[in-house]
Amino acid sequence: MNSTTDAIAVLRKELGGDICIMGHHYQNDAVIAHCDISGDSLELARHVPHVDAAHIVLCGVCFMGESAALLAGKGQTVHLPEPDADCLMSAMIPACLARSVLKQLADAGRNIVPLAYANTSLAVKALTGEYGGAVCTSANATTMLAWALERGDGVIFMPDKNLGHNVANLLGIPVDERHVLRIDGRGIIDSPSQPLGRKILLWPGSCSIHARFRPEFVEEARARYRGCRVAVHPECRQEIVVLCDAAGSTSFLIREAARVAENAPGSTLVIGTEENLVHRLAASHRGKCDIFPLSRAICPEMSKVTEKKLLDVLKDIAARKSEPLAVDKNLFEPALLSLTRMLEVCGN
Ligand code: SF4
Repeated sequence: MNSTTDAIAVLRKELGGDICIMGHHYQNDAVIAHCDISGDSLELARHVPHVDAAHIVLCGVCFMGESAALLAGKGQTVHLPEPDADCLMSAMIPACLARSVLKQLADAGRNIVPLAYANTSLAVKALTGEYGGAVCTSANATTMLAWALERGDGVIFMPDKNLGHNVANLLGIPVDERHVLRIDGRGIIDSPSQPLGRKILLWPGSCSIHARFRPEFVEEARARYRGCRVAVHPECRQEIVVLCDAAGSTSFLIREAARVAENAPGSTLVIGTEENLVHRLAASHRGKCDIFPLSRAICPEMSKVTEKKLLDVLKDIAARKSEPLAVDKNLFEPALLSLTRMLEVCGN
């Protein structure tokens, strides 16, 4: 215990049931130790409507706080320890650019349903709701892509092209039915030269943390840990996913580690995702199985949240000085629509 840890414990006691601290699995151990609820983005979103505390402190990146603010009850406030922590992938899709692209596709006469990964701004989620689409997470992207395909001539999957390809592979949609859009700051460029009639249009974005894994990392892991199992997050490129034994969301990778520890004691699991989670899984299953990261992979934005910043936001809440996240009222209804469509399709 250090003085920051102690100070947080004291403040938490003082604030009692008024505070609920939620944290994403990619947070570091010192932050996670203070969380009442930890989870991936879908799990955190699902928990919000059931939280009674007046103040939710969300240890994660900006879009997670925005989703919590959307789903929070009346009078409940949401606070971010580090409001500048922003998902690098969500920054690859400015809402005004997404609007231009959707308009270009609609003007071309196509009924394209937008499917927005949870890692997008509130404004992109609102746009998705407005155009009849829904949000998805890595845990439910397959279900949601099938849902979206039933509703239009095609789907635009935004912004993670890698997740889009991996999910399309799971649904058996051939590569020649997909197209990664070429876009500049104004919209789709040189439309006649692009196969815009394809079933799946992919926004050209990706997570720079997961996209850095390369096929040779899998080969090296297999050579170093003979007989190991390799599992990765589907934000990795499809060339990596096909080389691995399993791929799935953050919650899948957590279940996979527990399954290997239970059913294959003494074996080795190599996991390709954000490293904080991998080290935590290695520690919790130590003595039952060995778990190693596929490579170094720390998300710099998630790392902006520290124990010290958590303490600061708790102090501000106690002193009634903390500025809660404000949701633009013009975005509220359409963004909530895109999120609730996902929660309804996948069960609350
Ligand atoms: S790991 Fe990637 S997708 Fe997750 S918050 Fe960081 S940049 Fe965004």
